[in-house]
Amino acid sequence: MAKKKQTGAEGPSCSFCGRPASYGDMLVPSPLGNTYICTGCVEHIHEALREYNEDAKGKSAGKGTAELNIPKPKEICEFLDQYVIGQTDAKRYLSVAVYNHYKRLQQSVTDDVDIEKSNIVIVGPTGTGKTLLAKTIARLLDVPFTIVDATVLTQAGYVGEDIESLLTRLLQAADYDVERAERGIVFIDEIDKIARKGDNPSITRDVSGEGVQQGLLKLLEGSVVNVPPQGGRKHPEQRMIPVDTKNILFICGGAFDGIERKIAQRLNSHTVGYSNTARKGVNRDNFLQYVAPQDLKSFGLIPEIIGRLPILAHLEPLDREALRRILTEPKNAIVRQYKKLFEMDGMTLDFTEDALDLIVDKAIEYRLGARGLRSIVETIMMDAMFEMPSDPDGSKHLDVTAEYALRKLEEANFEVNRLQE
Ligand code: ADP
Repeated sequence: MAKKKQTGAEGPSCSFCGRPASYGDMLVPSPLGNTYICTGCVEHIHEALREYNEDAKGKSAGKGTAELNIPKPKEICEFLDQYVIGQTDAKRYLSVAVYNHYKRLQQSVTDDVDIEKSNIVIVGPTGTGKTLLAKTIARLLDVPFTIVDATVLTQAGYVGEDIESLLTRLLQAADYDVERAERGIVFIDEIDKIARKGDNPSITRDVSGEGVQQGLLKLLEGSVVNVPPQGGRKHPEQRMIPVDTKNILFICGGAFDGIERKIAQRLNSHTVGYSNTARKGVNRDNFLQYVAPQDLKSFGLIPEIIGRLPILAHLEPLDREALRRILTEPKNAIVRQYKKLFEMDGMTLDFTEDALDLIVDKAIEYRLGARGLRSIVETIMMDAMFEMPSDPDGSKHLDVTAEYALRKLEEANFEVNRLQE
């Protein structure tokens, strides 16, 4: 019946406003062909939709400041303290940078002071907590976060992954919600591995070094990048997703092996004559604490990249005391994890103080650092974890003493295996 009404004597009419075609508007039929809408109504709906979307955006931006409840730098730092031992300096830098990142995101677009993004570079020996810091930050934040390894990246057109692929991971972390990804954090690990190979820029092709740095620059400084949604290499038929990197925070980490020599050289050339460092006295056991942007340049990062990483933090090497604390103190400390595993089988586990000391001694003796603590504990625990759950009449408690630990390490040929590595 309705159809008859809309295509009456005067011809079809708009099902929304009822005006007939003779009023001059074009009538667009529905896919089924039984109703029509005039162009005037389409424009009206378009305008209403635009207003609705703007309203919704405004509301969620307002919600950002009022309800998001941004953690303050001290709160961020306290959270990091629960998981990461020591590294006070780096924690402070990171806390402030992340806090400012949040504030930037909530800045109104009409504001005439444009807060610039402060990407971070963390320099520290391997196994001292760079990735752990980044991961812990991600735990706290409600933004998409991803860790990528710079070593897999190569200049476009060469074997390896295109630089844009690191945004693919971020998109995946954001469930392909582009707007969320555009506010995310990317941790680029092993940034030192893309250092320029020689002192002279680009005499020969340096596709995994300077070439990648040049490509990365575009991302760090903020631009719209076409990202292959599935990663890998770009190919012409693939549909690309444009992602604006303006608000993405990049945290780069690297061990920069040998950078101490560059720092020492710089300090030595300054200590000839009269300088601050000469007066204050330089701690020669830990040159890393004096790391400065020019050292990254001597190491092989191009000045443009360094300029885009304005916050430079360093990590301290982990001493005996730090290793000892790492075993037991963090919220998910290794010892706590094993206790949990035992608990799940209705059993209990304890480590004596001298056993913990022994584990640290072994980690130092074999230069295994914090990463080695886990493999040592794993070796000590292996037999008990294999036997105890299947022995219903056996003991429900294990005391790991230094003697027990040493015996298990010897039985597993831990020392011999290490010496062969
Ligand atoms: P890297 O600096 O090479 O990125 P990681 O952060 O991956 O090192 O550290 C390796 C492991 O060592 C971590 O998973 C953690 O268990 C332990 N670890 C290293 N540094 C610390 C630290 N400062 N506090 C607590 N655990 C640490």
